[in-house]
Amino acid sequence: MAGEPQADCLFCKIVAGDVPAEVVRETDTTVAFRDINPQAPTHVLVIPKVHYRDAATLAAADPHLTADVLREAAEVAAEDKVDGTGYRVVFNTGSGAGQTVWHAHAHVLGGRGLNWPPG
Ligand code: IMP
Repeated sequence: MAGEPQADCLFCKIVAGDVPAEVVRETDTTVAFRDINPQAPTHVLVIPKVHYRDAATLAAADPHLTADVLREAAEVAAEDKVDGTGYRVVFNTGSGAGQTVWHAHAHVLGGRGLNWPPG
């Protein structure tokens, strides 16, 4: 169910501290940690602590929490000093878009040139 911790969810396990992660920021509602397979010098995932399967489900259920995730993405970019040159916030939503972990997450990418359109 949306919002309920899922026993088989990797990112719920990171929130619970059951799986280690390189956490860079934490708030009451979000956790930000470095991606295990970085695609740019800055590649951080920002997640809501509660479980939603994807960004669309999160946005429909809790706009305030969605805003928390976006605000934290901006804070991560500022802390990694990629906000000046520019950075990208990506929500892969659905398997066809490359989503592989079914707990909503924002990718924060920066520190190198980013092509458009993305692949
Ligand atoms: P998605 O493909 O948009 O769902 O993004 C999932 C991301 O999670 C990928 O970029 C993975 O590299 C990343 N990832 C998977 N497992 C871990 C982990 O244990 N720690 C940090 N990042 C992870």
